[in-house]
Amino acid sequence: MTDFEPRTVWLVGAGPGDPELLTRKAERLLSGADVVFHDALVGPGVLALARPGARLVPVGKRAGRHSQSQARIDRMIVAAARAGQRVVRLKGGDPAVFARTAEELAACRAAGVPVRICPGITAASAAAASLGTPLTLRGQARALTFVTAHACAGDAADVDWQALADPGATLAIYMGKAMAGRIARRLIAAGLDPATPVALVENASLPDERRFDSRLDLLPIAARSVLGEGPAVILVGPALDYAREPAAAPGRGSARALTAGAA
Ligand code: SAH
Repeated sequence: MTDFEPRTVWLVGAGPGDPELLTRKAERLLSGADVVFHDALVGPGVLALARPGARLVPVGKRAGRHSQSQARIDRMIVAAARAGQRVVRLKGGDPAVFARTAEELAACRAAGVPVRICPGITAASAAAASLGTPLTLRGQARALTFVTAHACAGDAADVDWQALADPGATLAIYMGKAMAGRIARRLIAAGLDPATPVALVENASLPDERRFDSRLDLLPIAARSVLGEGPAVILVGPALDYAREPAAAPGRGSARALTAGAA
């Protein structure tokens, strides 16, 4: 592998879970790695592609569960590279999206360790694909905003809800399951139409994927009653009107609000 020298770190996007949604480059890097430091969200199907004999080190961070501190992860990847290893730091989705990549880049660069990024399919893209919907819509959804619910969790004063409640944009909310109700209320209070299409996908691309579409004012009920334990992404905006379950009845409204995915 010409571009994977010992003593280097690759921050690799593992995609949303389905190994088929991995890039060929990611697969190649995995098959060349001496050690793979991976997130909790990276599933067995992807890890199985690591070189036989490669050391697999879980460094997962899940909300509310025991986790390694980011500083410790930074130290681990730097130490492994300095020990002469080919290091893959495998992250769910795309390393550039809500993945603490800045810290790892900084740690490697400060230590003089070469570090590169291999992109991956982010959760919002995987969710849109599963739903059969675009994320942008000519003339109606001209912007796409990626936001974490943590950003939404602050006081109303900390968050520019007016900007988030843009009827001409799509909002992709990560880590938002627990806060779905609050987010919906704030967006409506900031002026977004309660009937704005919303979709929610849990475990996008995995065998236990669940997806459903609803409307903004029904999102709290839906999020409470439908979701399991897996990661979920919430999509809000006019483009989501294209989300259609294969067997769904025509029309949008409360009758469809709690329709779980057919999976
Ligand atoms: N770098 C990742 C995001 C990490 S933040 C990416 O680009 O996708 C973790 C959040 O990502 C989760 O709380 C959830 O909102 C979302 N997520 C990750 N994998 C997912 C999946 N398979 N299905 C739905 N949402 C997912």
